[in-house]
Amino acid sequence: MITESDARQLTELLGLPETKVEDMTMIDGVGLFFVISPTRRDAECPRCGKRSRHLHENHRYNIEDLPWNQQPVVLRVNRRQFWCQECGQVFSEELAFVKKRRLYTQRLAKQIVGQVLGSSIHSVAARTGLSDEQIETMIKDAGKAYLPESPEPIRYLGIDEIAVVKGQGNYYGVLVNLETHQPITLLPSRTQEGLRQVLSQWGPEVLEGIEGVSIDLWKPYQSLVKEMMPNATIVADRFHVTKLVNEELDNERKAEKRAAKKIAKKAERERVIEGLNGSKYALLKNEGNLNEKQKKKLIEVSEVSPKLATMHRLKEEFREIFESFENWAEGTLKLLDWMADSSTFFNQSCGTIKRWFDEVTSYFELRITNGVVEGINNKLKLIKRLGYGFGNFDNFKLRALLPWVFPFETP
Ligand SMILES: [Zn+2]
Repeated sequence: MITESDARQLTELLGLPETKVEDMTMIDGVGLFFVISPTRRDAECPRCGKRSRHLHENHRYNIEDLPWNQQPVVLRVNRRQFWCQECGQVFSEELAFVKKRRLYTQRLAKQIVGQVLGSSIHSVAARTGLSDEQIETMIKDAGKAYLPESPEPIRYLGIDEIAVVKGQGNYYGVLVNLETHQPITLLPSRTQEGLRQVLSQWGPEVLEGIEGVSIDLWKPYQSLVKEMMPNATIVADRFHVTKLVNEELDNERKAEKRAAKKIAKKAERERVIEGLNGSKYALLKNEGNLNEKQKKKLIEVSEVSPKLATMHRLKEEFREIFESFENWAEGTLKLLDWMADSSTFFNQSCGTIKRWFDEVTSYFELRITNGVVEGINNKLKLIKRLGYGFGNFDNFKLRALLPWVFPFETP
């Protein structure tokens, strides 16, 4: 047995609330073994809330705690059972540092979760000797502790999607707080019903407080936002609109390439094909970001195709409008001018812009976009690549959202 003064010191070092150390031994191959007990003499009945001092029986078992100097630490705890006079039933007490039915302290779980969020379940399991299942349980507990069912008030919301596996047409929906740039939650698929379910949990207070929502060009989301967020201005995400314009330009490039192959005169055919070859990024990239080779290509393609040259100029103008005009009236007038110039070249894009005109021009007022989703998506891709031993959507969601709210300890 250790002395009383050792016990006092060890109690302080261990630093667990409402707990005292009674004994400590070092066991070869195991580590440090502490016998601890609660300092309170009573406990609160979970049914009626009354405190009871009627000890029913002691219940001792071992749990794991944070290591000391790389020595594993095992705590022999006593979770006592009390008899509640009020309810006439026995209950087991809550301990501040270990959840019921968990064989490790909460601070150990927190450390492990922090490690897993920075690497993978398998590598942390291998390093700590914990099983994948134990670690998954720790992460689920962390999800309950740190991820709220209903978010804090949101001013600007982004609704978008991320590809689960690129090219497979399988998407998760993602809701983003556009002020904090943090994902709020993920949706297992892109349906109006799925979004409605999540939003219903948020409650009217959060929903009515939302002032602006950035969405891609999907009518079912638009109507749901109108229905559930009465005070929100809907903004068509600028990058989705720009994508339409880019795609239409690229389709024209492909069409001209096909047409060029049918030119009868050989010399002319070769000249046009040569000019069009390798012109995709020269046409699509922002002109300001072109390298020397691409700049040269842009001139070449403009020489063989006046139509692509015009469409390229209009595409650049389109971006310019969204980048520079900061008030609604100016931006809207400028966009109308652009549409007048572009209707023959960008027939489809102009059609879509007309159908979404209010939403597209609301950008000039609120200037919100879903641009941040790309960065979030990159982080999620990393999570997917590392595997983490998570097979289903709920686990992936947990793993994806926790890093944004988890209180990592700064070393
Ligand atoms: Zn009771």
